[in-house]
Amino acid sequence: MKRMSEEEYVNNGGNLCPVCESDTTQTGEKAFETVVLFWEMDCFNCGANWDERYELVGYHINEPIKEEEEESPPPAFHIGMRFSQEGGDEEYLLAQVEKNKVALVGLNQGNRFNDPVEVCMPHHITPDEWERITSDDEFTLIE
Ligand SMILES: [Zn+2]
Repeated sequence: MKRMSEEEYVNNGGNLCPVCESDTTQTGEKAFETVVLFWEMDCFNCGANWDERYELVGYHINEPIKEEEEESPPPAFHIGMRFSQEGGDEEYLLAQVEKNKVALVGLNQGNRFNDPVEVCMPHHITPDEWERITSDDEFTLIE
């Protein structure tokens, strides 16, 4: 019997013994060699042993890529900004009162809204720091 050509082997979908054309074959070890996969095959009928070769031919994307939602960063407050408190008429200045410590200071009464809070960068208050500075009260930036 004439052995199958590689093309015939592929056209048969593989797995048929290329020597005796039996389908009583078994797949064995897989081995990658860069972009080629060798899959060892055995024929139970005639005892032939061969490798199926699989080559990387490209790729196909199945699902649309999810666009990452752009999250606008919360506005960064900094010292020098003025705020009003919900329901109050006092204006507060976000002021540096010690090195790296800021507090909201009332512009009319001069009282501090809260104890000074240590911050990393007085020119860029993080949301966490702002929460502590305001005791989580509602302050509105005066433009
Ligand atoms: Zn065979």
